[in-house]
Amino acid sequence: MKLKDIEFNTYFKNYPDANGYFGKYGGSYVPPELKVAMEEIADAYYTICKSRKFINELRRIRKEFQGRPTPISHLERLSDKIGTGAQLYVKREDLNHTGAHKLNHCMGEVLLAKFMGKKKVIAETGAGQHGVALATAAAYFGLECDIYMGAVDIKKQAPNVARMKILGAKVIEVTDGLATLKEAVDAAFIAYGNEYKEAIYCIGSVMGPHPFPMMVRDFQAVVGFEAREQFVGMTGELPDAIVACVGGGSNAMGLFSGFLNDPVDIYGVEPLGRGNKMGDHAASLTYGEEGVMHGFNSIMLKDENGEPAPVYSVASGLDYPSSGPEHAFLRDIGRVKYVIVGDDETIDAFFELSRMEGIIPALESSHAVAYAIKLANMIGKGSILINLSGRGDKDMDYVIENYGIR
Ligand SMILES: *Cc1c(COP(=O)(O)O)cnc(C)c1O
Repeated sequence: MKLKDIEFNTYFKNYPDANGYFGKYGGSYVPPELKVAMEEIADAYYTICKSRKFINELRRIRKEFQGRPTPISHLERLSDKIGTGAQLYVKREDLNHTGAHKLNHCMGEVLLAKFMGKKKVIAETGAGQHGVALATAAAYFGLECDIYMGAVDIKKQAPNVARMKILGAKVIEVTDGLATLKEAVDAAFIAYGNEYKEAIYCIGSVMGPHPFPMMVRDFQAVVGFEAREQFVGMTGELPDAIVACVGGGSNAMGLFSGFLNDPVDIYGVEPLGRGNKMGDHAASLTYGEEGVMHGFNSIMLKDENGEPAPVYSVASGLDYPSSGPEHAFLRDIGRVKYVIVGDDETIDAFFELSRMEGIIPALESSHAVAYAIKLANMIGKGSILINLSGRGDKDMDYVIENYGIR
């Protein structure tokens, strides 16, 4: 498949196909009993995504509860300091309720659960961000919420554990193996296998088996559609480039969705962590190879046994050994360029945006800011729109403890 063969004005109709494939990536690789559950979710989603009532309800929630539309801010002081003439802008998902983009898909997923008559939502969480967003949505809609979390992560992420509990979620401690995200995923899947009649599994990014990569993208697309209209309204033209960080890839697909059909350069930024040795980074699209994990085919980082490799990033929301199948597809056809940014540049960008603009970014989002600053130095004139996926309150203690005040 080549870029020139793709019709971007019918892109969302054709990708994914009916079986959930973006080219050769995606699909649904799950045990037979869950296959039925996934088909039930897909059928329900295909019904509601065309329903006026559902769309209007989600629109109302976005406005009255989430605080959308989030603004775009022009980074005037930072752009002046860079001094090449390039102008930087940020889409402020840090101002979305709960402080990040994740609530965009969690509200959609739980509204769907409610439509399907489910009583409970189930998920795993690593750093706790997905757990908090889902617990928020579950509280809003009055559904039970079971969050599986490794014992090690529970210790490390005390504030998010407290948030989930205050919001009424049950945080279930997983003590198997290394007691982190991987074991939490396994435990949540087993629980879902037993409870799928009453419960729905809510995946936290554009990954997992079909229909999740499509559904989460569609729920996040509000970011890109809003941003395109706002940016043209503000400046009279399209941005020259857009930039977003990529963990699983949901905030990036959200922004990219608004601009795929435009003459705009698109960059996805992967975490290079401490360097390019296995175990020191989580740059799956840059260093990975094709493989199936967690129910879908994509590009992933494998160890010598072909299992998901250990990964690392200073931003815990980015340390996942694969990325959503749509990103693998957009990489292969050349529509999106995937680039890498390490921990040090990320920390510099974290302080730079805080000092120059009064916005403390999440460490995940700081990867995108760091790359945009580099790009501004390279392209000179032109405009760059960054997706500021979340605010950095959650990262402040960690940064000060490990890096001090720069
Ligand atoms: C979780 C998270 C990410 C990474 O997830 P994606 O699915 O890649 O968007 C990025 N930024 C923030 C603030 C997050 O909480």
